[in-house]
Amino acid sequence: MLIMVLDAKCVMCSKNATVNDDMKEVSCTHCGFHSSYDEYIELMKEKALNMSTDFQINLDKNPL
Ligand SMILES: [Zn+2]
Repeated sequence: MLIMVLDAKCVMCSKNATVNDDMKEVSCTHCGFHSSYDEYIELMKEKALNMSTDFQINLDKNPL
């Protein structure tokens, strides 16, 4: 299962998180969440399993 997240969503507070330029770190200015990108992906996978329906719907939406 591969999830590419460029515009990251914070796993802690669900607000916008920032992925740094080399895609190695994710940080959230809203709640102070900070982790490596790999760790972030693992957290997102766990979250996706818990709410797979919502996650699928979001992936199907194409903003372009
Ligand atoms: Zn946050």
